[in-house]
Amino acid sequence: MDKQTDVLMNLSVLYRSTQKYYDRMLFSMKLTYAQLPILIMIYEREGISMHDIAQSGVYDKGTISKTVKHLEQNGFITIMTSEKDKRNKELYTTDYAKQQMSKVYEIRRDWWQHLIQNIDPSTFDEFLASYEIMASNARAYAESQQENLVFFEWKKVSVSAYPDKMATVLSIAGCNFCCPSCTKSDLVYIPENRKAIADTEIRQYLEKRAGIIEAVCIEGAEPLMHPHLKEFLKYVKDLHYMVKINTNGSFPSFLQELIEEKLVDYVSLSLKSGPRSYAKTIGMENFDTSLISRTLEILKESAIDYDVTIHLIRQFHTTSVLKSMMNWISHVKHLILVPFNDYSSAIQKDLCSIQPKKLGSIIELCQPYCDQLEVRE
Ligand code: SF4
Repeated sequence: MDKQTDVLMNLSVLYRSTQKYYDRMLFSMKLTYAQLPILIMIYEREGISMHDIAQSGVYDKGTISKTVKHLEQNGFITIMTSEKDKRNKELYTTDYAKQQMSKVYEIRRDWWQHLIQNIDPSTFDEFLASYEIMASNARAYAESQQENLVFFEWKKVSVSAYPDKMATVLSIAGCNFCCPSCTKSDLVYIPENRKAIADTEIRQYLEKRAGIIEAVCIEGAEPLMHPHLKEFLKYVKDLHYMVKINTNGSFPSFLQELIEEKLVDYVSLSLKSGPRSYAKTIGMENFDTSLISRTLEILKESAIDYDVTIHLIRQFHTTSVLKSMMNWISHVKHLILVPFNDYSSAIQKDLCSIQPKKLGSIIELCQPYCDQLEVRE
């Protein structure tokens, strides 16, 4: 058996054994393994809605409705109408459930202790990190298959996101790159506690502010990964907003489709490196850079506004790499240089910004390759 088969087989064994253990231990409490994560979620976040559960656990709506109904029928939870918004329902655990929870946690702890016996603690953290990435990749796929576009961050008003326009900025989760310099890793790897913003809240805001707010900016992680983006942009365009999209440039066909259908007015392309070092800079072993070349061509040939943005990192953007990047882009309308300055994650601590004295020579190098050069802090 190959490594992949081994891993998937072991995951299956782990899942089935865990299910059997929990079902046996929970039987006398009239609970099942399938109901447990949802009950724990409600207990740990009293007042949570079914929508929030769907977002954090990647459950479909049917499974949640069925589980919530069983939990209610068996006296574990109550469903209440939200005082803030009468259309929403909030879920709370009953006193009966609260009394059972210490037993539930005990059962969970015992199983965990059983599973991790004989594991060397020094290698365990590494394993957990890889396992977390696998789960995150699976979740990103599941989310890309959802019927609605889901946003996780929202800056309601920005005067800098869209040139000369007052804009609202919405951020999507999930990305096909793994850049070590990523400053949006929360959106790429989507932690459990990250909460999706209710679609109705966004739509109400956009409908009420149409004419006051002039533009909608869609940022990521990577917006063009989401097939439902188009539907959302049609809705935004019907409200007469200008639209800007930030992209890593790896979905040229979808970008072209959006431009042709006049669903986007401005594109900001984040260019990571020169062709030869692209894969390394985005944390991958191989990458087809013709996708980026195609995106560049599309932008240059189109009538829409665009910029090419480079986040300058000392380790990656040596003079020779910058020269190859400039030769690649050849000549663009608007080039934006942003010296990297985010050291919030462990990996980023090892990265360095461009030295201020070097910036002058970088500007000189890049100037001939664009109509307008801008440096942003
Ligand atoms: S492309 Fe952007 S969002 Fe995706 S990993 Fe790289 S920096 Fe992060």
